[in-house]
Amino acid sequence: MYRAKALGRNAFSFFTPALQTHYVRTLEIENALRRALELDQLSLNYQPQHELATGRLLGFEALLRWQHPELGQVSPAEFIPVAENSGLILPIGDWVIEQAMAQLGRWHAAGHTWLSMAINLSAAQFNAPDLAVQVASLLRQYQLPAGSIELELTETIAMQDPDLAVSIMQQLHQQGIRLALDDFGTGYSSLSYLKRYKLQTLKIDQSFIRYLSATNDDAAIVNVTINLAKSLGMQTLAEGVETREQLDFLRRQGCDIAQGYLLSRPLPAELATTYITSYEVF
Ligand code: C2E
Ligand code: CA
Ligand code: CA
Ligand code: CA
Repeated sequence: MYRAKALGRNAFSFFTPALQTHYVRTLEIENALRRALELDQLSLNYQPQHELATGRLLGFEALLRWQHPELGQVSPAEFIPVAENSGLILPIGDWVIEQAMAQLGRWHAAGHTWLSMAINLSAAQFNAPDLAVQVASLLRQYQLPAGSIELELTETIAMQDPDLAVSIMQQLHQQGIRLALDDFGTGYSSLSYLKRYKLQTLKIDQSFIRYLSATNDDAAIVNVTINLAKSLGMQTLAEGVETREQLDFLRRQGCDIAQGYLLSRPLPAELATTYITSYEVF
């Protein structure tokens, strides 16, 4: 076992109570997650994304929620990795894409035809051979323009096979589906990747926004990122905007889009529907 070896003479600590507890919890989550779809325990919340220059609502990001009778509300930060490691992310991910597009279809049918939907994708979903076909058929089914869908990818997607990733991105791009790079700045971002990829949006990770003030290092990083994206023809979206100061700073620096608790928390479908016609322009 490489873990034990890596620990060397501390190999004893392999089976600490803490690790055992973690292991039991992971198994428990995996077993419960197996039945979550059929038991109707999953739902989506929708978090608004606003254009900084005008304040208007552009669309929503779909965020998965899981309510379990005994485990309670489990955070996606905890159960998504379990879903990814167990392969459950494929059926769950299909369900997310279908639900999110069906919801956007209802909003478009109600006349809000400018709205877009951002959908998070795990690496396994991205690399599944039928992704482009699946999205194309749902676009037809819900009568949505391809440009209303933005798939959010993380940098890990391209790590195993960069060439394959580029060819899948080209396929999606040719269909008119938009692509965003999520959590930018937290991974192994290689600038040469950015140039090769056909991405429309760079999402600046919330860790750079959290302590943002006009004079600190984060401000410098955010500025460089905005300018880099611009020069590559991409738009920038700042995640995790919580204060008016952050919003004003981002607007001054020419960031295009903002998302965060200051504007709205992720909302269940019904509240998101109300939000579309009643939000206040900042
Ligand atoms: P993410 O894609 O980076 O999503 C942003 C996370 O930040 C969300 O957490 C959102 O609720 C939270 N957030 C939004 N605004 C603020 C803010 O102003 N302040 C703070 N502190 N947090 C904010 P959430 O919903 O718990 O999701 C966590 C992660 O789980 C997501 O991070 C994403 O990586 C993953 N995830 C969620 N839904 C899906 C899904 O349908 N598929 C996949 N593959 N991953 C998902
Ligand atoms: Ca995301
Ligand atoms: Ca993110
Ligand atoms: Ca994240």
